[in-house]
Amino acid sequence: MSRYLIEAYQALEAYVPGEQPQDMQYVKLNTNESPYPPSPAVLNAAAEEAGRLQLYSDPACAALRDAIAGLYGVRRENVYVSNGSDDILNFAFMAFAGKGGRAYFPDISYGFYKVFGDLYGCAYETIPLEQDFRIDPSKYHHRDGLVVIANPNAPTGIALSVEEIEGIVRANPDHVVLIDEAYVDFGAESCVGLTAKYDNLLVVQTYSKSRSMAGARLGFAIAAEGLIADLDRIKYSTNPYNVNRMTLATGVAAIADNDFYMANCLRIEATRAKTSARLETLDFEVLPSKANFIFAKSDRIGGGALYQELKKRGVLVRHFDSPRIRDYNRITIGTPEQMDVLVNTIQSILGA
Ligand SMILES: *Cc1c(COP(=O)(O)O)cnc(C)c1O
Repeated sequence: MSRYLIEAYQALEAYVPGEQPQDMQYVKLNTNESPYPPSPAVLNAAAEEAGRLQLYSDPACAALRDAIAGLYGVRRENVYVSNGSDDILNFAFMAFAGKGGRAYFPDISYGFYKVFGDLYGCAYETIPLEQDFRIDPSKYHHRDGLVVIANPNAPTGIALSVEEIEGIVRANPDHVVLIDEAYVDFGAESCVGLTAKYDNLLVVQTYSKSRSMAGARLGFAIAAEGLIADLDRIKYSTNPYNVNRMTLATGVAAIADNDFYMANCLRIEATRAKTSARLETLDFEVLPSKANFIFAKSDRIGGGALYQELKKRGVLVRHFDSPRIRDYNRITIGTPEQMDVLVNTIQSILGA
């Protein structure tokens, strides 16, 4: 830290992303990327658009917003796109909580919510998950600020139903309810349909997981026109060209190839079921996941030790060293072959 950093940020604890090792080849099951590459049409779109990089991108992102709107049955005015969904979460904390504002989210959830809360100096409160790591939706009713819920939640993978979300949205008519659907395509129910009915619901999704584009940085939000206009106001006050040309073009191509990506999601769901069953035969407890990862613990080895032993053997998973969850590891669902390596490696660790 330099002596020039203003006081407001001196105590800020930045988000720590999962390891992205650039040295050796790991079986990489730690940051919930898709194990499957983008579709051929997406590769072509990127190559073609690269020839026009001398030109700024469309700040209105009209073609991509239309494509997303078409897929989800909404209008362009209901869609906002951004440089990764983290960018939307950032703007939402800025716009709907802010300094002195309030925000509510689970004690165990996506680590970035706290960071944004700290960044904007809002008075956030974390609401403990139940003993079984489920969210009790009634605990989010009648709150006096921004409500943020990842659905399915991370790193548990457990999902709420649309009815439960609707109850939360109805019980907070004067505040925004942000539902982070980063993992919704892996078997949970999206609440995008509710955005036609409620002007306080902001649904956020990403191309990073189900659409194999983590490296392209593309997220989107669907909501009533007013909330989208609020996000646009912040975008045009910070960085109007925040989605680059290649990403815009690949985003359109990926929507046209939706069946390709949803088929990949089904493959991942099948691999998830198989991997969970195999870990359970090794006496792991595996939480019921609707995401492209599982959260699992063993009574035979601690969470931190398992993480270390796997890493030594070239398999990378995510361990969170915080009180309620340090016995667990979050394991991304990769290809069947990668999961064979994972299970075999765990077997040899436990056998030793
Ligand atoms: C991965 C993830 C994001 C961020 O996605 P990007 O679009 O890559 O920024 C947001 N929320 C949750 C819960 C995630 O797991």
